[in-house]
Amino acid sequence: MTGLSDSFQRPIDYLRISVTDRCNLRCIYCMPTDGIRLMPHADILSYEEIRSIAKAAAELGISKIRVTGGEPLVRSGLPGLIGMLAEINAIDDISLTTNGILLARYAAELKAAGLRRVNVSLDTLDAAKFKRICRNGRLQDVLEGIEAARTVGLNPVKINMVVLSGVNDDELRGFARRTVTDGWHVRFIEHMPFAKNGTGDSFLSVAEMRQRLAELGKLEPCSFKGNGPAKYFRLPRANGTIGFITPVSEHFCFHCNRLRLTADGKLRLCLLGEEEIDLRQSLRGGVSADELKKLIKIAVVSKPLRHQLANGRVPQDRPFSQVGG
Ligand code: SAM
Ligand code: SF4
Repeated sequence: MTGLSDSFQRPIDYLRISVTDRCNLRCIYCMPTDGIRLMPHADILSYEEIRSIAKAAAELGISKIRVTGGEPLVRSGLPGLIGMLAEINAIDDISLTTNGILLARYAAELKAAGLRRVNVSLDTLDAAKFKRICRNGRLQDVLEGIEAARTVGLNPVKINMVVLSGVNDDELRGFARRTVTDGWHVRFIEHMPFAKNGTGDSFLSVAEMRQRLAELGKLEPCSFKGNGPAKYFRLPRANGTIGFITPVSEHFCFHCNRLRLTADGKLRLCLLGEEEIDLRQSLRGGVSADELKKLIKIAVVSKPLRHQLANGRVPQDRPFSQVGG
């Protein structure tokens, strides 16, 4: 294994794989109001194709994989894919990002297949508001999913909350208190603009979030395992942690360590950029493993230095749900 790094000397060791563009929710910050045009089934990579890409990437230096969506658990046989990825030698960490609706059903099977840990997206602890934000689904199912994941040992379970001003920012303190009362690991995420989602003026910066949390006590910085850009803190007496993710107010592009594979087989070079390299066509054209690796290397060296939100450039091509976060 040689290790991968891009043209800005950033080590690239992390691949996020979106396995579907389908979802059982329609979160207001992620899906456009009128839904999305779904990819035809034939365009979506098979699990065998995903394995070939992951194996080639692992042989180049990728050691961590996160499976995402759409909602990954709506794709049938997902534990089977986790098992296939877990058999790849150089992969030492497989994690999942899910909305939690189906997690209670699959937690034990996922753990047995080799999944290490999960991130669960949860933006409110109020059942009626859950319906407004997610436009579907039941809060109770997500809470049961979180408990099931903890019980089977998919730890640490991290709770991702996209904070939207005027929508759920009144719950910041409630989520933060859960780090003390229930040992939750909560991450507050700034809302990222995507042209194809509509949430208007809902942005709240992490600096403002921290002000709102001040009355709960001093946030002590702490080290906490993660492959990403969150900065972690603890409240006094908390077993759990609070993470902040600032893609907008303080971009972390200089530490970017990742590539993204879309469900239709494109390597996306930046979450917030539109450049992609098509692997599906080459795979289906019978490309050799070495040629596949060449394409992955081209993707890595083509990664842009940073996103261009500050210059008003927002991705126009796909909604967030088709990129996988
Ligand atoms: N369906 C899964 C879920 O909700 O966890 C996985 C896919 S979802 C696109 C991945 C992550 O992206 C979630 O944590 C979600 O909250 C986050 N996300 C979606 N749209 C976002 C946006 N506009 N800004 C910030 N985060 C967003
Ligand atoms: Fe679905 Fe996840 Fe997007 Fe919500 S955030 S609509 S659960 S893909």
